[in-house]
Amino acid sequence: AQAQVHDLAEFARANGVKYFMISYTDLFGGQRAKLVPAQAISDMAVEGAGFAGFATWLDLTPAHADLMAIPDPSSVIQLPWKPEVAWVAATATMEGALVEQAPRNVLRRLIHEAAKEGLRVKTGVEPEFFILTADGKQCSDPLDTAVKPCYDQQAVMRRYDVIAEVCDYMLSLGWEAYQNDHEDAIGQFEMNWKYDDVLRTADKHSFFKFMMKSIAEKHGLRATFMPKPFQGLTGSGCHAHISVWDLDGRKNAFADDGKELGLSDQGRHFLGGIMKHASALAAITNPTVNSYKRINAPRTTSGATWAPNTVTWTGNNRTHMVRVPGPGRFELRLPDGAANPYLMQAVILAAGLDGVRTKADPGPRHDIDMYAHGYKVKNAPKLPLNLLDALRAYEKDKTLCSMMGEEFSKAYVKLKTDEWNAYCAHFSEWERQNTIDI
Ligand code: GLU
Ligand code: MG
Ligand code: MG
Repeated sequence: AQAQVHDLAEFARANGVKYFMISYTDLFGGQRAKLVPAQAISDMAVEGAGFAGFATWLDLTPAHADLMAIPDPSSVIQLPWKPEVAWVAATATMEGALVEQAPRNVLRRLIHEAAKEGLRVKTGVEPEFFILTADGKQCSDPLDTAVKPCYDQQAVMRRYDVIAEVCDYMLSLGWEAYQNDHEDAIGQFEMNWKYDDVLRTADKHSFFKFMMKSIAEKHGLRATFMPKPFQGLTGSGCHAHISVWDLDGRKNAFADDGKELGLSDQGRHFLGGIMKHASALAAITNPTVNSYKRINAPRTTSGATWAPNTVTWTGNNRTHMVRVPGPGRFELRLPDGAANPYLMQAVILAAGLDGVRTKADPGPRHDIDMYAHGYKVKNAPKLPLNLLDALRAYEKDKTLCSMMGEEFSKAYVKLKTDEWNAYCAHFSEWERQNTIDI
């Protein structure tokens, strides 16, 4: 693992870095950057790199002052495929103050809140993605055609050059990458590396998306994290594995062998918070119009979506929103590939923290196949059916809105409602086909 970096100019000298990519993540999860020569980094480290407010994909107008992105040296990662460039996550500021709505700032504030209660959250993320032709229209491997292609040995080897290149890079960065597979849709893959402190995981998750896309492009292909790129095929989730530790990171506070499924009272309350806020939380973990086509798609050609459609939890069973695969942690299966790496962790923290504070109970678990029973189980609430549903649930959830920050919540709901309205204004072929002869 990389030693903690404090001074970027020194880092550049020691590692032969010529350019820094000062990057911040916008409200839509997009990464925006300026490429700054190493000679100029010392000034930038104090002043920050300037971005015109209105163009930032945050809720800012053309009249706003510049957003100044101040690089956080502890996040720096040298691009393994282009070592003369180093990526560094930035803290968004304006006129000397933190920009509250900026996703990484939202997460840092919640980490601080959790620390006040003695909690240190560690998470792992499991990003799934498709490798498509460069135009993004279809699976790039003409031989990858199986109806149920999960773990297809032949197909994963046909993409060895891309997968192994990225996995080698993760290993060289000290991320402790440990497995790669072909997932349940043609052209779909997943790569896993070890869990870490929540901010580190969010930074790595951002960098991973950047790296995966870059390496796919290098090979003349296109990697996409879009939640449901093809109707009828399994979508791309981004499961989060969550555990909470004491502040020095040694004792897993979620582990208790004497309790149900090895989950401590605190773990149970944290989970209770996730269950309680699930519909609102979806507005962040499932942030696009397309997200709801993953969680609400009844059938896929492989036989299962592997995505949740109800607010339910269970032991080691993949048909629910939350799975407790073993003692001391749980898996939230709700987030998808479009989730903002910072906001998804922030909202999990917010919901979980509220659960711990209010001693929330997750309710009874359902150890059944929800794909067979999902619509019949009494008292099993459904997840939002679309983005608007989720945004309304979010707006109504005053606790979550205030924990995520009022300024952030207002900005997010506004920009995402605009997105929903733009989608509704789009005239689709489906409408013509189904209405022409009415
Ligand atoms: N692709 C599935 C999803 O959308 C997850 C498959 C798995 O369990 O790895 O969540
Ligand atoms: Mg998977
Ligand atoms: Mg998983």
